[in-house]
Amino acid sequence: MRLLVVGGGGREHALCWALRRENPDADIYAAPGNPGTASLATNLPIVADDLDRLADAADMYAIDLTIIGPEAPLARGLADRLRAEGRAVFGPSAAAAQLESSKAFSKEVMRAAGIPTAASGTFTSLPEALAYVDRHSEPLVVKASGLAAGKGAVVCATRAEAAATVRAMLEGRQFGEAGSVVVIEAFLEGEEVSVLALTDGHEVELLPASQDHKRLLEGDLGPNTGGMGAYAPVSVATPELLERTRNEILLPTLAEMRRRGAPFQGVLYAGLMVTADGDPSVVEFNCRFGDPETQVVLPLLDGGLTDCLERIATGGGVSPLRVRTDAFAVTTVLAARGYPDAPERGAAISLPATLPDGVTIFHAGTRLDENGVLRTSGGRILNVTAVGATFAEARARSGAAAGLIAFEGKVYRPDIGWREASRS
Ligand code: AMP
Repeated sequence: MRLLVVGGGGREHALCWALRRENPDADIYAAPGNPGTASLATNLPIVADDLDRLADAADMYAIDLTIIGPEAPLARGLADRLRAEGRAVFGPSAAAAQLESSKAFSKEVMRAAGIPTAASGTFTSLPEALAYVDRHSEPLVVKASGLAAGKGAVVCATRAEAAATVRAMLEGRQFGEAGSVVVIEAFLEGEEVSVLALTDGHEVELLPASQDHKRLLEGDLGPNTGGMGAYAPVSVATPELLERTRNEILLPTLAEMRRRGAPFQGVLYAGLMVTADGDPSVVEFNCRFGDPETQVVLPLLDGGLTDCLERIATGGGVSPLRVRTDAFAVTTVLAARGYPDAPERGAAISLPATLPDGVTIFHAGTRLDENGVLRTSGGRILNVTAVGATFAEARARSGAAAGLIAFEGKVYRPDIGWREASRS
């Protein structure tokens, strides 16, 4: 079997790792991959949004199954392009990927399908947006509708702040075209949970529920980031909550997408807010594996991933994932000083010669220099994933291993999983 993983971050390293574990003899390619994927796959020097060269590579290497990691190539139609050439692809069409690439579209689908989500309005006109802000109570959340690398949602404590944010997006073009349409919505109180479902457009197979940590600093302070760490499973995501998520959110969304002629195939990622009453409400949909959630959910599988991805990509439905019920996973993201705005690059990274039990390191923003020295090369550098027999064990292992890795300017949160820890 010849597999191609598109992307080059921690999520893609974790995908290559999980695929290699299930398929010791497969030819796995990563485009562009990173120094971590290089030991599991053949890295191809093609960036994830170069559709022409990716299509050529799929041809040249006779790829049987392509798995697309990041949202940008999905939004640009990479899955459509490869499918039109007769290839099996795991990932939604550009039309279906609008569930992530257009928050305005996503809200419209949710409204049409009766999915629980915050009340909202969608605007292109500044006066109308400002009037909406005036009529609604604080706090409000203002979002650029388009893709903004996870930075397009601003929680505004006051109406004045919401008005200024709307202005910056619609008038100041703070997020360029992505912010030429804004969604303004009510603030939801509760605890966030990520539910990732593998789907053929009809049925869903759930991965263990996980929880990301968006803020840069300990105690959930500081600016929003792409995610500073995650853990799985999450105890607030009870079997009942997951059943409701399946029946009240995922399946109706898939039905609505089919009705619109844009069936969704791939990972439907529901970012939920679980209210104090235990009700799930959708904060956002993503159209791909989460990063860093993937780095904790895949290590909890005991098999079944490749089969499920392949079946979905070839139109054969979904197949069961084997989820470990005796294990917990925690990942701690090591970031570079200056992340998320202006991460410093180029620091030499020193990895410990041996890793503690249960620990796997996924590369996110690293590169090898001309002398073979591993250096920082991005915002999020490494993901330190640990699996343990208890949540506390996984957490302690991830934290301890994070401390053993050294590079100038290393930034990380020692409190990943603090909510879960405070419950146990
Ligand atoms: P999004 O880009 O829509 O995922 O939003 C990014 C982050 O902003 C989410 O992970 C939440 O932490 C926060 N957020 C977004 N929308 C809301 C909301 N309606 N209520 C509370 N927090 C929100």
